[in-house]
Amino acid sequence: MTTLDRDVVIIGAGPSGLTAAYELRKAGKTVAVLEARDRVGGRTWTQDMDGATIEIGGQWISPDQTGLYSLIEELGIETFERHKEGASVYLAEDGTRTVYSGEDFPVGESTVAEMNRLIAEMDRLTTEVNPDAPWEHPQAEELDKISFHHWLRNISGDEVACNNVGLFIAGGMLTKPAHTFSALQALLMSASAGSFSNLVDEDFILDRRIVGTMQGVSIALAERLGEDVFLNNPVLKLDWSDAGVTAHGADVSVNAKKVIVAVPPNLYSRISYNPPLPRRQHVTHQHQSMGLVIKVHAVYETPFWREEGLSGTCFGPSAIVQEVYDNTYHGESTGTLVGFISDTQADAMFALDEAARKEAILKGIAGFLGDKALDPEVFYLSDFAAEEWTRGAYATSYDLGGLFRFGPDQNKNVGPIYFSSSDLAGEGYQHVDGAVRMGRRTAARIVAAVDGTEHDMDYDGVVSKFGTLAALDA
Ligand SMILES: Cc1cc2nc3c(=O)[nH]c(=O)nc-3n(C[C@H](O)[C@H](O)[C@H](O)COP(=O)(O)OP(=O)(O)OC[C@H]3O[C@@H](n4cnc5c(N)ncnc54)[C@H](O)[C@@H]3O)c2cc1C
Repeated sequence: MTTLDRDVVIIGAGPSGLTAAYELRKAGKTVAVLEARDRVGGRTWTQDMDGATIEIGGQWISPDQTGLYSLIEELGIETFERHKEGASVYLAEDGTRTVYSGEDFPVGESTVAEMNRLIAEMDRLTTEVNPDAPWEHPQAEELDKISFHHWLRNISGDEVACNNVGLFIAGGMLTKPAHTFSALQALLMSASAGSFSNLVDEDFILDRRIVGTMQGVSIALAERLGEDVFLNNPVLKLDWSDAGVTAHGADVSVNAKKVIVAVPPNLYSRISYNPPLPRRQHVTHQHQSMGLVIKVHAVYETPFWREEGLSGTCFGPSAIVQEVYDNTYHGESTGTLVGFISDTQADAMFALDEAARKEAILKGIAGFLGDKALDPEVFYLSDFAAEEWTRGAYATSYDLGGLFRFGPDQNKNVGPIYFSSSDLAGEGYQHVDGAVRMGRRTAARIVAAVDGTEHDMDYDGVVSKFGTLAALDA
């Protein structure tokens, strides 16, 4: 067992923990990052499969994600545009397939009008919500008492419109059925992206990808931190007092003034705190749970759908695979499709054996893009729910009433213990951008606490407080 002394120990080498460690190092603090897995990146992870680059976890970046944009600029990392040209495909509840162009689903005039009315109502409310403190909205308590499913149906009698608008947040983002989270949680999701219109616009929210992949951002940060990142070191025990902490990894223990727990909230209780955390944290942490989504990749010899004038973008709110996109990586001649199977549809798929699951999913994709989709060269399901150090996807959200009741305390430190993850972010919530913003904000809070200086609680983490790469070498 190696014992180290550092200013700050960081638990978790995902984008949030690594950004925090990088910021602290630039601020002249000593750090050690203890990571459970044998790799960095957490919920961002890339593998080469028969020559195709597959991003198993987080990958897209949207124009409002300025925290992540400023970090990649600092690291010299570039982006490329997702393939968007061509028509989209919509699969209605009765199985009718329609090829369409433009922003509106091909669902009949009155439903289009109703969807646009619901989207406008969400946009109006979103302008009133501060993503950093949604619980401060004047109707927050009321909005947190009602499920998003029922809230939509209270203001609209059009079932198809409610289902389609609900899908953007439910299957599409929180990856939970719309009856399991509140209207306030849905508003936090849209406020985190600037507006509900941004969220429902796939060309905005899934705008670009990272050259070198999203995990590459974490790898670049870890390279800057060098020997201060310790893999295969799950922290299962944390001793703490006002004087400092000791984090116990598998073969490294770190004594430090402060600790950043940069793991998703559903895993906080994986660590045994000595003494135990206060009652408030014990209860709060039990109300944040992971969603469930299967991200499926299918790689073909060529992007055959492009030859047919299709973009590869497909929506089927009632289908097994609810969304499909062209996910061909920059510079590759093969064609890659990515699809998403969310919440109860994912349960149904995991109940099947492997061969039946593959057949059902490929049939689902072929329902949008034709029989050529049935025979991919590579077929891969990402299964973060089966991973001990994540246990779901994409991220955590509160149960009904939890955001209003517990949200105000979620970012408070407990003595020397600070929490940082995309799941606690306002802007960039559930996204790598939020992980970066939280990493920067937490690092800045700790620097102020250690140095005894004033901290600006409104600092948003969009721009680093501690200079650029040069500060690291200084
Ligand atoms: C399938 C999928 C698709 C996604 N798509 C997108 C997307 O397109 N765009 C986007 O911006 N975001 C996307 N996301 C979300 C994004 O990946 C996350 O928001 C982001 O990775 C969160 O970063 P984080 O550092 O907060 O947490 P994580 O990435 O989860 O990192 C936490 C780290 O802590 C480690 N850890 C856990 N417990 C311990 C312990 N006890 N001791 C030591 N280490 C521990 C974990 O191994 C992990 O490395 C997606 C996520 C998934 C799963």
